[in-house]
Parts: sequence; C-alpha cells; structure tokens
Amino acid sequence: AAKAAGPGQWAFFERAMTENALIRLRTEGSLRAAVDRGEFVLHFQPKVDLGSGRVAGCEALVRWRHGGELVAPGRFIPIAEETGLIYDIGLWVLREACRVQAQWKTQFGPLSMAVNVSARQLSEPSFLDDFMAVLRANRVDLDLLELEITESAIMSQFNVSAQLLREIKALGVRLSVDDFGTGYSSLAYLKNLPIDVLKIDRSFVSDLPGDTSIPRMIIGLSGQLGLRTVAEGIETREQFDWLRDNGCHMVQGYLVSRPLPEEAFLPFCRTWRAEAA
Ligand code: C2E
Ligand code: MG
Ligand code: MG
Ligand code: MG
Repeated sequence: AAKAAGPGQWAFFERAMTENALIRLRTEGSLRAAVDRGEFVLHFQPKVDLGSGRVAGCEALVRWRHGGELVAPGRFIPIAEETGLIYDIGLWVLREACRVQAQWKTQFGPLSMAVNVSARQLSEPSFLDDFMAVLRANRVDLDLLELEITESAIMSQFNVSAQLLREIKALGVRLSVDDFGTGYSSLAYLKNLPIDVLKIDRSFVSDLPGDTSIPRMIIGLSGQLGLRTVAEGIETREQFDWLRDNGCHMVQGYLVSRPLPEEAFLPFCRTWRAEAA
C-alpha cells in the first residue's frame, strides 16, 4: 500500500520506520520459519539444593539456532509473544523438556525440570488440552515438572486464570513465580493461587550480602505461606553462603554453572561439589 503511493512516499515511509522495526519484521519472518524447521534448542541451568549441596534439578532455557549463532531468548521471546508464535514454541519446549527429563531419570535419577511459560501461552483456550497431551505422550514424572510463570504474567492483560492454574496444579505439576518482587503486584494473589515456589529475582540477589532486606523478606514470606524459595542469578560464594545460612532452599546462577547443553548436564551433576564452588 505504501509503495502504491509512489516511490517518494515509500522512501519517506522507509526512513520513518526505525531500524528496530525493520529488524523486528525480519525477525518475525524467520521466527515463523524457525518453528517449522525446528531451529530451537534447550539449555539446562542446574539448581542446587542448599540442604544436600547437590544438583536437584534444572531450568530449561530456550535458544534459537539462527544464522550460525545461538540467539538468546531475550532477543526473540518478546516477538514470539506478540505474534503468538510463542504458543507452538512453548509446546516444543515442553515436549523436549519432558523427553530429556525422562532420559535423565533412567541414566541418573530424578531431577526436577522447570519450564518457563508466558501469559500468552496460558491464555490460549487450548493450552490445558495440549499440555496434557504432551504429558501423556512422554510419561514424565509430574511431580518433577515445574512451570515458571513471571509475577508480571500472572498480573498481565492476558489474565491467567486462577482456575487454569488450579487445574495444572491438580495434575501434580508444581508452579513457581519467576522474577518475584519485580511485578508491582499485590500480594493477595499468593494466597489465592496454588503456588509452590517463589524465585527471588536476580536484581535482589545481586545486592547480597550488602543489602539483605528484600531476600530476607521474601524468604520469610515464603516460610509463612509454606512455599519454597529459589534464588536466581547467584554469582558469588558470599551470596551462596548467605542464602544457605538464611533459609533459602535452592540456588541457581553462574557461580554454580551457566545453562548447559544437554550432553554436558549429567557429567556436571556427577562431579559438582558445593564446597568447591
Ligand atoms: P528467567 O526465566 O528469569 O531465566 C533466568 C535468566 O537468567 C536466564 O537467561 C539465565 O541464563 C540467566 N542467568 C542465570 N544465572 C545467572 C547469573 O548468575 N548471572 C546472570 N547475569 N544471568 C543469569 P536467558 O536464558 O537469556 O533467558 C532469559 C529469559 O527468557 C528467561 O528469564 C525467561 O523469562 C525467558 N525464557 C527462556 N526460555 C523460555 C521458554 O522456553 N519459554 C518462555 N516463555 N520464556 C523463556
Ligand atoms: Mg525462569
Ligand atoms: Mg527468573
Ligand atoms: Mg529473571
């Protein structure tokens, strides 16, 4: 339509369009193709149980093999959410995470597997049916599966329903609030939703051990509500020690390990020792 208005008009339109918008358009096109071609891969970041000092599970984090590089989710998940492509990507992530969890169970033992789910996925009416179909097809241990939903997603325009979360919970799957403390939300939802875990956002963990106020508050709140606490983004031994000594259940971060490709995960679990970190 812009072109029909004449070359001058088009040039104007093109100039007016920001570089970012053009990149976005191109990304959307190749992202659509990526879904069909299966260009995604999962990496797995270990979660350490502070009681045992052992790796107890992981978080699955998606990457996109594109143009010879591994693109981080921050660069394509927002576009996938806007276009709705996140729905199919998310089902692939879930399928792949279930496959890997079942395989590790036979090769190593039970390891929890957390998968990120966005509000856009949960607000799709077919989500529950598709989700259950994936679980059935993979014979996954439901109590080892965890869905991470950001606090802002729970409060978003898509309005993830409490009913849906209860149905997911009734399957035996655990629910975790990601980036907890950053969502400008009321605390009332914590009482009304069937949540199991609060993940302390990395921005608060990075204040440790200097400013302990918010991690202390979240761990306390979590205890009062009978939830478990996971700290994300721990990068120093001081943070690890403070969290262990102050009642946090699990940690995850570069101090322990960056997200690992599938084949590197079990070797890591077999050799990692908390004392050496
Ligand atoms: P998130 O769920 O909060 O995941 C944690 C992010 O923090 C990951 O980034 C992880 O690599 C990074 N991280 C972990 N430890 C450290 C640390 O010690 N220091 C620093 N600086 N960073 C650390 P990643 O993999 O780039 O993922 C970014 C976000 O993309 C995730 O944040 C999540 O919201 C989203 N995402 C990733 N995979 C999926 C997915 O399969 N589906 C959906 N819907 N979203 C996903
Ligand atoms: Mg997460
Ligand atoms: Mg997080
Ligand atoms: Mg985060």
